Amino acid sequence: MVFYMPTRLISGKDCLLNSQNEFKTLGKKALIITGKNSALRSGVLLDLHKVLSESGITYVIFDKIMENPTLDIVCEGSQVLLENACDFLIGIGGGSPIDAAKAISIMAANDLKYREIYSPDKFNSAYPLVAIPTTSGTGSEVTQYSVITDVQNNQKAGFGHHLCFPKISFLDPKYTLSMSETVTRDTAIDALSHLLEGLYSNKRNPLIYPIIFAGFKLIYDNLPLCLDSPVNLTYREKLQQASVYGGMVIAQTSTTLQHSIGYPLTTNFHVSHGKANGLVMQQIMELYYPHIKTEIDALFAFAGITKIDFYRWIDNFEMKLDHHISEEFIASKTSEVMQSRNMANNPFEVDAEIVKELFRTLEAY
Ligand code: NAP
Ligand code: FE
Repeated sequence: MVFYMPTRLISGKDCLLNSQNEFKTLGKKALIITGKNSALRSGVLLDLHKVLSESGITYVIFDKIMENPTLDIVCEGSQVLLENACDFLIGIGGGSPIDAAKAISIMAANDLKYREIYSPDKFNSAYPLVAIPTTSGTGSEVTQYSVITDVQNNQKAGFGHHLCFPKISFLDPKYTLSMSETVTRDTAIDALSHLLEGLYSNKRNPLIYPIIFAGFKLIYDNLPLCLDSPVNLTYREKLQQASVYGGMVIAQTSTTLQHSIGYPLTTNFHVSHGKANGLVMQQIMELYYPHIKTEIDALFAFAGITKIDFYRWIDNFEMKLDHHISEEFIASKTSEVMQSRNMANNPFEVDAEIVKELFRTLEAY
């Protein structure tokens, strides 16, 4: 197995404020990619302004990134990057702005047109990227993946390339304190999904099991505590650590059906990414259990719980799908799920009937 994680991770209290020298190597002008609120509300922008000014770096802000960023916004951001002749990018926020920053960098550097962003064989270069996460979920700060929505085809799809790994990521849990209860829960469930899928994936390897087990336990123990005490920095730090573990894991193993089946729930019903994973978490574990029994049993033994304890734990979050899943929806979305690139990583061959049955289980929720 190859373990590849080329991102320089800098963590700890005020790590961004103390990193003038890190930025000086990246260029003279930055393009900051972010959403409407998170860069300001988390406090990142204030710290970043200080550190960039002290380093003699000017910047342009592109703050139009929405949840589940679209191909159109990536094209627009790529134009802004080129028109302003920026040397590097800084993605601030959850997975949406960080993924968008990766796609903007690749599109601009390789002069790509629209859907070519889904063709990694066309990627030859990238601008340096700094990632500053404000959620604890996607692990995008340490992955080579980006997930972009093609609105014209009503389809959410990811791509991956080693050029998309951020050069540097700054991890300070204080930036995650301002997350709402729902965003805290859903993003942690996404991180949990990454950890579990690292165990399910046919690219799983015992070398990474300690990271998976430790990340799982961090979320199992700390998510309920964090939801009860949202301004407790220690709980926030543990969830941020687990999210990075999840990213490190899927950077090696990729994700599976659990992610593929969630994408249509997001594009069609606006279910958040993490919740979409949570809605099928138990069903997928049951489906895979006979194939991954030894590994899953070892995970629960490490955490000191049973599978039933885990299912009760998930049930406590009361994630529900407030939409009817019609047979028409299932018929139209099953082929999309089957074509998703994550389907190559399932622990056994999953056919269309299994996908349809999984969609049907959501009706009962
Ligand atoms: P997100 O879509 O980036 O953000 C969700 C919401 O939370 C937004 O409204 C955002 O506000 C807000 N927010 C973020 N940080 C905040 C903070 N500190 N305080 C207050 N509000 C905050 O959520 P995400 O779950 O992190 O990212 C999901 C995306 O990442 C999906 O598109 C998913 O497919 C993708 N993903 C990528 C990978 C990967 O490896 N690259 C893996 C899994 C998922 P703003 O609108 O102001 O930003
Ligand atoms: Fe995810």
